[in-house]
Amino acid sequence: MRVLVANLGSTSFKYKLYDMPAARVLARGGMDRIGGSGSVHEFCFGEGDEIELECDLPDHAAAIDEALGRLVGPEGVMASTAELEAVGFKAVHAGAVTGVVDLDDDVVERMIAYYPLAPAHNPAYVAAIRQFAAVVPAARLIGCFESAFHGQVPLRRQLYAVPYEWYEQYGIRRYGFHGASHRYAAEKVRELNGPGRLRQINCHLGGSSSLCAIDDGVSRGSSMGLTPQGGVPHNNRIGDLDPFALELVMREEGLSFEQVLQQCSGASGLLGLCGHNDVRDIEARASAGDPRCALAIEVLTTAVRDYLGAYVVELGGLEAISFTGGIGENSRTVRQQVLAGLDFLGARLDPERNNQSPDAVAGSCALHADDSGVAIYALRTDEELIVARQTHEFLT
Ligand code: ADP
Repeated sequence: MRVLVANLGSTSFKYKLYDMPAARVLARGGMDRIGGSGSVHEFCFGEGDEIELECDLPDHAAAIDEALGRLVGPEGVMASTAELEAVGFKAVHAGAVTGVVDLDDDVVERMIAYYPLAPAHNPAYVAAIRQFAAVVPAARLIGCFESAFHGQVPLRRQLYAVPYEWYEQYGIRRYGFHGASHRYAAEKVRELNGPGRLRQINCHLGGSSSLCAIDDGVSRGSSMGLTPQGGVPHNNRIGDLDPFALELVMREEGLSFEQVLQQCSGASGLLGLCGHNDVRDIEARASAGDPRCALAIEVLTTAVRDYLGAYVVELGGLEAISFTGGIGENSRTVRQQVLAGLDFLGARLDPERNNQSPDAVAGSCALHADDSGVAIYALRTDEELIVARQTHEFLT
């Protein structure tokens, strides 16, 4: 079965085409700067060389047409779009609609209703779903919602202390996201650690970041909240905030509610703190003596440590800590700060091993010292693989 996995951001589209159930990657690619200028489509077939093509991508529909144009035909890996049996979407938010579902009109309507809560994700997904429905009408469109992995988080951890009716009537609660990445990390660390009790905390630190407490493969807590804006600071999204701050800023700056929300979801996080949102730039500037950049990293790592502590207590012990996402995989500074002084928990980083990043082949590396009681890993996450498997299982 040919399954295309679609991973969308507000200005990006990444995809992988799988042959299932073997999970053989037939093609993969990605585009960013959608809606802007200077887009490049980077893709490759199987293990082949990466190809880069400049393209004009006014919207997500154009990006999907560009991808299918390369995948289908004599130069591609499918003779016709009829070979594509399913498209699996790493869908983000539709409130109580979660799990693995057919993306019918009702589900799409729910996703549209959640635009205000997931402004960077839901509009891009809905645009992509509509485009695939138009150009590959025979393919099944399946949503694998990011919140599904957190379905067994205890209610006491889901609830905010708001009037209970807000929860009952409007679903105001913590949902948790990054489910595909946390699920992948749970499976990978199980493989690396072998049998036995496995209480794990996965730190997915990337453009958006969340921690997950995982007990023998089951999520017991996610740092993200009602929306993917919550939890620890993200690259340009806010993380947790006392809501009363908003009223003060609106009053003093003469801003509308929509305007402050836009600042929370696009001009906050690391960007808001130091003016940069790429951790590579922030680390370089911090090393060159920029105090605000150094502080931004410390605000992020402090928030990560807060959740780490909370989740050790929730799990009642710890066998492994894992890092995923662009920052978690690559930033030795962030990992070192997050794990500093945790010997009392039995978690000891080896400074030399911490210089590694998971290599492209093995996809993982162990970073703990030989005498550490807690295993520490950096993992190259594979969210698309999880979505491909879920889509295939759903359809078979
Ligand atoms: P997304 O959430 O958009 O999928 P990623 O997981 O790819 O994002 O992570 C993107 C983040 O990873 C960016 O903030 C980027 O700076 C950071 N990053 C990528 N490479 C490195 C690196 N070598 N060192 C530090 N941070 C890195």
